[in-house]
Amino acid sequence: MRFPALPFDNRYARELNGMYVHWRPQRVAAPRSLYFNEGLARALGLDPAVWGGEAGAPVWGGNVVPEGAEPLAQAYAGHQFGGFSPQLGDGRALLLGELIDTQGRRRDVALKGSGRTPYSRGGDGKAAVGPMLREALIGEALHALGVPTTRALAVVATGEDVHRDETLPGAVLTRVASSHLRVGTFQFFAARGDTEALQRLLDHAVARHQPDAVGEPDRALRLLRGVAERQAALIAPWMNLGFIHGVMNTDNMTISGESIDFGPCAFLEAYDPATVFSSIDRQGRYAFGNQAAIARWNLARLAEALLPLFPGVDEDPEPAVGQATAVIDAFPGLFDAQWRAGQRAKLGLRSEQPGDSGLADDFLVLMQAQRMDFTLAWRHLAAAAEGHEVPLRALAAEPQALAPWLARWRARWAQEGEAAEVARRLRAANPWLIPRNHGVEAALQAASDDGDLAPFQRLLAALQRPFEERLDDADLAEPAPPAVTACYRTFCGT
Ligand code: AMP
Ligand code: MG
Repeated sequence: MRFPALPFDNRYARELNGMYVHWRPQRVAAPRSLYFNEGLARALGLDPAVWGGEAGAPVWGGNVVPEGAEPLAQAYAGHQFGGFSPQLGDGRALLLGELIDTQGRRRDVALKGSGRTPYSRGGDGKAAVGPMLREALIGEALHALGVPTTRALAVVATGEDVHRDETLPGAVLTRVASSHLRVGTFQFFAARGDTEALQRLLDHAVARHQPDAVGEPDRALRLLRGVAERQAALIAPWMNLGFIHGVMNTDNMTISGESIDFGPCAFLEAYDPATVFSSIDRQGRYAFGNQAAIARWNLARLAEALLPLFPGVDEDPEPAVGQATAVIDAFPGLFDAQWRAGQRAKLGLRSEQPGDSGLADDFLVLMQAQRMDFTLAWRHLAAAAEGHEVPLRALAAEPQALAPWLARWRARWAQEGEAAEVARRLRAANPWLIPRNHGVEAALQAASDDGDLAPFQRLLAALQRPFEERLDDADLAEPAPPAVTACYRTFCGT
C-alpha cells in the first residue's frame, strides 16, 4: 500500500542538530491495529480510511515510514527519584516528525516501543500491549476531563513477544504531543556545559511554547515562568481529580505543560494524600500529596539548567539566581490559586470568600477520616445539594459525622444560588467516572491475555463522557473493594 506524503514540518530535526540521532523503527512481524483515535487523526488532517485500522497498521507499527517523516531518537537527561542520570534519551521511542493540525498547532507524532536506539542502555526498546493500551486509555480519560495531556493516535500489536517478568504480547504506541521537550532535555546540555546547544534548544522551545518571548533578552526567564504557570495549571487538576502520575522524574515533566509518560499512574480511590501505587516508589517520593512539591523541585532543576542563558550571568550570577529563585518560590502560590479555584468549583461556588479554603480542607479531612471514595464524595455533593444526602452518607464509615460540615457547606452555597443551579454546576465540575484501577486492569488483561478488546473499547467509550451518569456504565463507576485497592500496585519500566 502506498501512503500519501504527509505535510511534516520537522523543526526539531532542522534546528537542533546534535540533539538527536536519525534512526529507523525496527520492523515488526505482524502489525495489527488495536486502537486508532479517529477524532485525533482528523484533527491532524489524517483520513482514518487511509491511516486507520489495518490499512494504517504498517505505519504505526513502524514497518512503513511515511514520506516526509524523519524518524529520530531525542537526547535527554533526567533526575530519576532524585538521582541525576546525565544520559537517558529515547530508548524505545522515535519522533517521526511534526504536523500542523487543523487548528494550526504544531504537533509531534512519535512512536513508542519501536525498537532499540543508541539511548536504549540495557533496555530492549520494546513495549507490551497492556501498558500501551493503558497509556492510550489514561490520555483519553484526562483529555475528556479537560486536563492537558499527550494523547495516543494508535496502538498496534507487533505479533512479537516482549520479555518482562513474564512473556507478553508486544505493541507500538503512536503518541501525539505539543512537543516532547522535557525538563531533562535542558538538563542534558546543561550537564555537558554545552551553552551553544542549550541556547538553540531554548530558542526552539520559546518558539513553540513561549511565543511572546521570541527574541527577547530575558527569554530564558520567561520560559521558566511559563513552565511554572503551565505546570501549576496541570498539577492542580491532577490534584482535584485524584490523579497520581507516579513517576514525576524530570525527564517525565514537559515544557508544554502536558501530562506525559503514564507508567505507574493511577487514580485515588479512598482519599489519602499519602497514597502511592507505584511498586518502585518505595519512599513515597511521588505520593499523591507530594506532587506540587515535586513539580517545584523539578522547576528548580530546570532553572539550574537555564541559568547559563540568563543575560549577564557570567559577570555576576546573583541577579540571575535571584530572578530564577523568585519564579521557583512563586510556584506554590501559582499552584494554590489554581487548585483552590478548582476546589471552589467542585464545591459548587462561584465567588471566593475567606472561609472557602477551610471548607475544602475540612471536606478532605472528613473524606480521609471516613475513608470515603474521593471521586464519588465530590460527585455526590450534587445530589446532596438537591436534598438527597444518602449517596454521600453511604460513602462514610460514620455517616452522622458529615452533618456539621454539610450544614456549613449548604449555608455557603445558598448565598449564591438555588439548589438546582448549584447541583448543575456541581455535576459539571465533579466527574462521575474516572478510570478505576481495577476496571483498567481488567480491560487491559482481557486485551493482553485473551486478545479480547471489547472491555477496553467499552471503558474507553465510557471515559469520553465522564460527567454523565449512565445506568449502563454503573459498574465502571463503582469503587474497588478497599482490600483490592490496598494491594494495588502499578509497575514502571513497562
Ligand atoms: P520512563 O520511566 O518510561 O519514562 O523511561 C525512562 C528511560 O528509560 C527513558 O530514557 C526510556 O527511553 C528508557 N526506557 C524505558 N523502557 C525502555 C525499554 N524497554 N528499552 C529501552 N529503553 C527504555
Ligand atoms: Mg519517560
